[in-house]
Amino acid sequence: MTFEELNLAPAILAAVLEQGYENPTPVQAQAIPAVLSGADVLAGAQTGTGKTAGFTLPILQLLQGRERVGKAVRALVLTPTRELAAQVEESVRTYGKNLSLKSAVVFGGVALNPQIKRLSAGVDILVATPGRLLDLASQGAVDLSQVEILVLDEADRMLDMGFIHDVKKILALLPAQKQSLLFSATFSDEIRALANTFLRDPQHIQVTPKNTTVQRITQWIYPVGRNKKKELLAHIIQSENWSQVLVFTRTKFGANSVAQYLADNGI
Ligand code: AMP
Repeated sequence: MTFEELNLAPAILAAVLEQGYENPTPVQAQAIPAVLSGADVLAGAQTGTGKTAGFTLPILQLLQGRERVGKAVRALVLTPTRELAAQVEESVRTYGKNLSLKSAVVFGGVALNPQIKRLSAGVDILVATPGRLLDLASQGAVDLSQVEILVLDEADRMLDMGFIHDVKKILALLPAQKQSLLFSATFSDEIRALANTFLRDPQHIQVTPKNTTVQRITQWIYPVGRNKKKELLAHIIQSENWSQVLVFTRTKFGANSVAQYLADNGI
Protein backbone atom coordinates (compact mmCIF):
# COMPACT_ATOMS: atom_id res chain seq x y z
CA MET A 1 0.00 0.00 0.00
CA THR A 2 1.13 3.56 -0.71
CA PHE A 3 0.20 6.88 0.89
CA GLU A 4 -1.36 7.91 -2.43
CA GLU A 5 -3.99 5.20 -1.96
CA LEU A 6 -5.16 6.64 1.35
CA ASN A 7 -7.09 9.54 -0.20
CA LEU A 8 -5.21 12.21 1.67
CA ALA A 9 -5.42 15.78 0.41
CA PRO A 10 -2.49 16.76 -1.84
CA ALA A 11 -1.24 19.32 0.68
CA ILE A 12 -1.06 16.64 3.39
CA LEU A 13 0.37 13.99 1.09
CA ALA A 14 3.13 16.39 0.05
CA ALA A 15 4.12 16.96 3.68
CA VAL A 16 4.20 13.21 4.33
CA LEU A 17 6.30 12.45 1.27
CA GLU A 18 8.65 15.25 2.24
CA GLN A 19 9.40 13.28 5.40
CA GLY A 20 10.72 10.52 3.19
CA TYR A 21 8.05 8.02 4.18
CA GLU A 22 7.28 5.68 1.32
CA ASN A 23 4.60 3.41 2.67
CA PRO A 24 2.12 3.73 5.49
CA THR A 25 2.87 1.56 8.51
CA PRO A 26 0.22 -1.05 9.41
CA VAL A 27 -1.43 1.19 12.00
CA GLN A 28 -1.53 4.05 9.51
CA ALA A 29 -2.98 1.85 6.77
CA GLN A 30 -5.81 0.91 9.11
CA ALA A 31 -6.33 4.03 11.19
CA ILE A 32 -6.28 6.62 8.41
CA PRO A 33 -9.31 5.26 6.49
CA ALA A 34 -11.15 4.54 9.75
CA VAL A 35 -10.68 8.06 11.09
CA LEU A 36 -11.48 9.63 7.72
CA SER A 37 -14.75 7.69 7.69
CA GLY A 38 -15.72 9.44 10.91
CA ALA A 39 -15.68 6.30 13.04
CA ASP A 40 -14.52 6.02 16.63
CA VAL A 41 -11.35 3.97 16.88
CA LEU A 42 -9.85 1.71 19.53
CA ALA A 43 -6.28 1.02 18.50
CA GLY A 44 -3.67 -1.22 20.06
CA ALA A 45 -0.40 0.29 18.96
CA GLN A 46 2.87 0.91 20.70
CA THR A 47 5.12 3.86 20.25
CA GLY A 48 7.34 3.37 17.20
CA THR A 49 4.52 1.98 15.07
CA GLY A 50 3.80 5.31 13.40
CA LYS A 51 0.59 5.78 15.38
CA THR A 52 1.08 9.55 15.69
CA ALA A 53 0.78 10.07 11.94
CA GLY A 54 -1.97 7.45 12.03
CA PHE A 55 -4.24 9.87 13.85
CA THR A 56 -2.66 13.20 12.95
CA LEU A 57 -2.98 12.90 9.17
CA PRO A 58 -6.69 12.09 9.03
CA ILE A 59 -7.49 14.67 11.74
CA LEU A 60 -5.75 17.38 9.71
CA GLN A 61 -7.72 16.30 6.69
CA LEU A 62 -11.08 16.25 8.48
CA LEU A 63 -10.56 19.66 10.06
CA GLN A 64 -9.24 21.22 6.88
CA GLY A 65 -12.39 20.11 5.10
CA ARG A 66 -14.76 21.64 7.65
CA GLU A 67 -15.41 25.21 8.47
CA ARG A 68 -14.08 26.69 11.68
CA VAL A 69 -16.60 28.50 13.83
CA GLY A 70 -15.22 30.80 16.50
CA LYS A 71 -12.00 30.21 18.40
CA ALA A 72 -12.77 27.06 20.32
CA VAL A 73 -10.56 23.96 20.13
CA ARG A 74 -11.67 21.54 17.40
CA ALA A 75 -9.41 18.57 18.01
CA LEU A 76 -7.96 17.62 21.39
CA VAL A 77 -5.12 15.15 21.85
CA LEU A 78 -4.42 14.07 25.42
CA THR A 79 -1.04 12.52 26.19
CA PRO A 80 0.45 11.29 29.48
CA THR A 81 3.73 13.24 29.35
CA ARG A 82 5.04 16.59 28.23
CA GLU A 83 7.62 14.93 26.01
CA LEU A 84 4.96 13.02 24.13
CA ALA A 85 2.74 16.11 23.95
CA ALA A 86 5.56 18.14 22.43
CA GLN A 87 6.37 15.35 20.01
CA VAL A 88 2.76 14.98 18.87
CA GLU A 89 2.37 18.70 18.35
CA GLU A 90 5.60 18.72 16.37
CA SER A 91 4.06 16.07 14.12
CA VAL A 92 0.91 18.15 13.72
CA ARG A 93 3.08 21.05 12.57
CA THR A 94 5.15 18.90 10.25
CA TYR A 95 2.24 17.20 8.52
CA GLY A 96 0.08 20.32 8.57
CA LYS A 97 2.74 22.68 7.26
CA ASN A 98 0.85 23.29 4.00
CA LEU A 99 -2.47 23.88 5.75
CA SER A 100 -3.84 26.88 7.60
CA LEU A 101 -4.77 25.00 10.79
CA LYS A 102 -3.38 26.25 14.07
CA SER A 103 -2.01 24.00 16.77
CA ALA A 104 -0.73 24.45 20.30
CA VAL A 105 0.68 22.30 23.06
CA VAL A 106 0.09 22.77 26.79
CA PHE A 107 1.64 20.88 29.68
CA GLY A 108 2.47 21.47 33.30
CA GLY A 109 5.74 22.55 34.86
CA VAL A 110 6.03 25.70 32.79
CA ALA A 111 4.38 29.13 33.04
CA LEU A 112 0.63 29.31 32.45
CA ASN A 113 0.45 32.75 30.91
CA PRO A 114 2.08 32.09 27.55
CA GLN A 115 -0.24 29.11 27.15
CA ILE A 116 -3.29 31.22 28.01
CA LYS A 117 -2.21 33.81 25.47
CA ARG A 118 -1.63 31.19 22.82
CA LEU A 119 -5.08 29.69 23.41
CA SER A 120 -6.82 33.03 23.29
CA ALA A 121 -5.64 33.48 19.71
CA GLY A 122 -7.66 30.43 18.68
CA VAL A 123 -6.38 26.90 18.17
CA ASP A 124 -7.70 24.15 15.91
CA ILE A 125 -5.66 21.30 17.34
CA LEU A 126 -4.64 21.28 20.98
CA VAL A 127 -2.22 18.72 22.38
CA ALA A 128 -2.26 18.60 26.16
CA THR A 129 -1.40 16.70 29.30
CA PRO A 130 -4.49 16.24 31.50
CA GLY A 131 -3.53 18.20 34.62
CA ARG A 132 -2.53 21.40 32.87
CA LEU A 133 -5.51 21.24 30.57
CA LEU A 134 -7.85 21.08 33.57
CA ASP A 135 -6.06 24.05 35.13
CA LEU A 136 -6.57 26.05 31.95
CA ALA A 137 -10.17 24.94 31.63
CA SER A 138 -10.96 25.91 35.23
CA GLN A 139 -9.60 29.38 34.52
CA GLY A 140 -11.78 29.70 31.47
CA ALA A 141 -8.69 29.89 29.26
CA VAL A 142 -9.77 27.10 26.96
CA ASP A 143 -13.12 26.34 25.39
CA LEU A 144 -13.60 22.59 24.99
CA SER A 145 -17.31 22.76 24.22
CA GLN A 146 -16.80 22.55 20.46
CA VAL A 147 -14.33 19.67 20.29
CA GLU A 148 -15.08 17.58 17.21
CA ILE A 149 -12.34 14.99 17.62
CA LEU A 150 -10.76 13.61 20.78
CA VAL A 151 -7.63 11.44 20.93
CA LEU A 152 -6.43 9.65 24.04
CA ASP A 153 -2.85 8.78 23.19
CA GLU A 154 -0.99 6.14 25.21
CA ALA A 155 -4.07 5.66 27.35
CA ASP A 156 -2.41 2.88 29.35
CA ARG A 157 0.42 5.15 30.45
CA MET A 158 -2.11 7.85 31.24
CA LEU A 159 -3.85 5.52 33.68
CA ASP A 160 -0.55 4.21 35.07
CA MET A 161 0.39 7.78 35.87
CA GLY A 162 -2.82 8.28 37.82
CA PHE A 163 -4.61 10.54 35.35
CA ILE A 164 -7.89 8.63 35.30
CA HIS A 165 -9.80 11.23 37.31
CA ASP A 166 -8.42 14.12 35.29
CA VAL A 167 -9.31 12.33 32.07
CA LYS A 168 -12.85 11.74 33.28
CA LYS A 169 -13.20 15.39 34.25
CA ILE A 170 -12.00 16.43 30.81
CA LEU A 171 -14.40 14.03 29.10
CA ALA A 172 -17.21 15.72 31.01
CA LEU A 173 -16.24 19.08 29.48
CA LEU A 174 -16.47 17.80 25.93
CA PRO A 175 -19.57 17.63 23.77
CA ALA A 176 -21.27 14.24 23.66
CA GLN A 177 -21.35 14.34 19.89
CA LYS A 178 -17.76 13.91 18.73
CA GLN A 179 -15.39 11.43 17.16
CA SER A 180 -13.14 9.68 19.69
CA LEU A 181 -9.94 7.72 19.23
CA LEU A 182 -8.11 5.76 21.87
CA PHE A 183 -4.56 4.49 21.39
CA SER A 184 -2.97 2.18 23.89
CA ALA A 185 -0.11 -0.32 23.84
CA THR A 186 -1.88 -2.59 26.31
CA PHE A 187 -5.49 -3.22 27.27
CA SER A 188 -6.26 -3.77 30.91
CA ASP A 189 -9.80 -4.07 32.21
CA GLU A 190 -9.49 -0.48 33.38
CA ILE A 191 -8.67 0.78 29.87
CA ARG A 192 -11.54 -1.20 28.40
CA ALA A 193 -13.91 0.22 31.00
CA LEU A 194 -12.73 3.73 30.23
CA ALA A 195 -13.03 3.12 26.48
CA ASN A 196 -16.59 1.89 26.96
CA THR A 197 -17.55 5.16 28.63
CA PHE A 198 -16.90 7.30 25.56
CA LEU A 199 -16.21 5.27 22.41
CA ARG A 200 -19.25 4.53 20.30
CA ASP A 201 -19.18 1.37 18.26
CA PRO A 202 -15.43 1.77 17.69
CA GLN A 203 -13.46 0.18 14.89
CA HIS A 204 -10.84 -2.06 16.43
CA ILE A 205 -7.31 -1.86 15.18
CA GLN A 206 -4.60 -4.10 16.54
CA VAL A 207 -1.14 -3.87 15.10
CA THR A 208 0.98 -5.20 17.91
CA PRO A 209 0.06 -8.49 19.47
CA LYS A 210 0.41 -8.44 23.23
CA ASN A 211 3.93 -8.39 24.65
CA THR A 212 5.80 -8.24 21.39
CA THR A 213 8.57 -5.85 20.57
CA VAL A 214 8.38 -2.95 18.15
CA GLN A 215 8.83 -4.27 14.62
CA ARG A 216 10.86 -1.38 13.32
CA ILE A 217 13.58 -1.86 15.91
CA THR A 218 16.03 -4.74 15.62
CA GLN A 219 17.12 -6.17 18.94
CA TRP A 220 20.19 -8.19 19.84
CA ILE A 221 21.05 -10.07 22.99
CA TYR A 222 24.64 -10.51 24.13
CA PRO A 223 24.89 -13.21 26.79
CA VAL A 224 27.72 -12.14 29.08
CA GLY A 225 28.78 -12.59 32.68
CA ARG A 226 27.92 -9.80 35.09
CA ASN A 227 31.57 -8.80 35.56
CA LYS A 228 32.06 -8.35 31.82
CA LYS A 229 28.97 -6.27 31.05
CA LYS A 230 30.54 -2.83 31.22
CA GLU A 231 33.55 -3.94 29.27
CA LEU A 232 31.35 -5.43 26.56
CA LEU A 233 29.23 -2.28 26.41
CA ALA A 234 32.30 -0.08 25.97
CA HIS A 235 33.63 -2.47 23.36
CA ILE A 236 30.42 -2.45 21.32
CA ILE A 237 30.06 1.32 21.47
CA GLN A 238 33.65 1.79 20.36
CA SER A 239 33.79 -0.88 17.70
CA GLU A 240 30.43 0.17 16.19
CA ASN A 241 31.42 3.81 16.45
CA TRP A 242 28.06 4.73 17.96
CA SER A 243 27.58 8.39 18.75
CA GLN A 244 24.14 8.25 20.37
CA VAL A 245 23.37 5.47 22.79
CA LEU A 246 20.74 5.08 25.48
CA VAL A 247 21.76 2.68 28.27
CA PHE A 248 19.22 1.44 30.80
CA THR A 249 20.24 0.01 34.15
CA ARG A 250 18.18 -1.51 36.91
CA THR A 251 19.45 0.72 39.71
CA LYS A 252 20.76 4.25 40.25
CA PHE A 253 23.95 2.75 41.56
CA GLY A 254 24.31 0.72 38.36
CA ALA A 255 23.69 3.82 36.24
CA ASN A 256 26.44 5.71 38.06
CA SER A 257 28.86 2.89 37.77
CA VAL A 258 28.22 2.39 34.03
CA ALA A 259 28.55 6.12 33.37
CA GLN A 260 31.80 6.25 35.34
CA TYR A 261 33.21 3.24 33.51
CA LEU A 262 32.36 4.70 30.10
CA ALA A 263 33.86 8.07 31.07
CA ASP A 264 37.02 6.35 32.31
CA ASN A 265 37.28 4.68 28.93
CA GLY A 266 36.99 7.89 26.99
CA ILE A 267 33.33 7.51 25.99
P1 AMP B 1 5.31 6.99 16.42
O1 AMP B 1 4.99 5.55 16.66
O2 AMP B 1 4.15 7.77 15.96
O3 AMP B 1 6.01 7.60 17.60
O4 AMP B 1 6.35 7.05 15.18
C1 AMP B 1 7.59 6.43 15.24
C2 AMP B 1 8.54 6.97 14.19
O5 AMP B 1 8.22 6.48 12.90
C3 AMP B 1 8.58 8.47 14.07
O6 AMP B 1 9.93 8.85 14.14
C4 AMP B 1 8.03 8.78 12.70
O7 AMP B 1 8.68 9.88 12.14
C5 AMP B 1 8.31 7.52 11.93
N1 AMP B 1 7.29 7.21 10.91
C6 AMP B 1 5.97 7.44 11.01
N2 AMP B 1 5.33 6.99 9.91
C7 AMP B 1 6.26 6.45 9.10
C8 AMP B 1 6.21 5.82 7.81
N3 AMP B 1 5.07 5.64 7.17
N4 AMP B 1 7.37 5.39 7.27
C9 AMP B 1 8.53 5.57 7.94
N5 AMP B 1 8.64 6.14 9.14
C10 AMP B 1 7.53 6.60 9.73
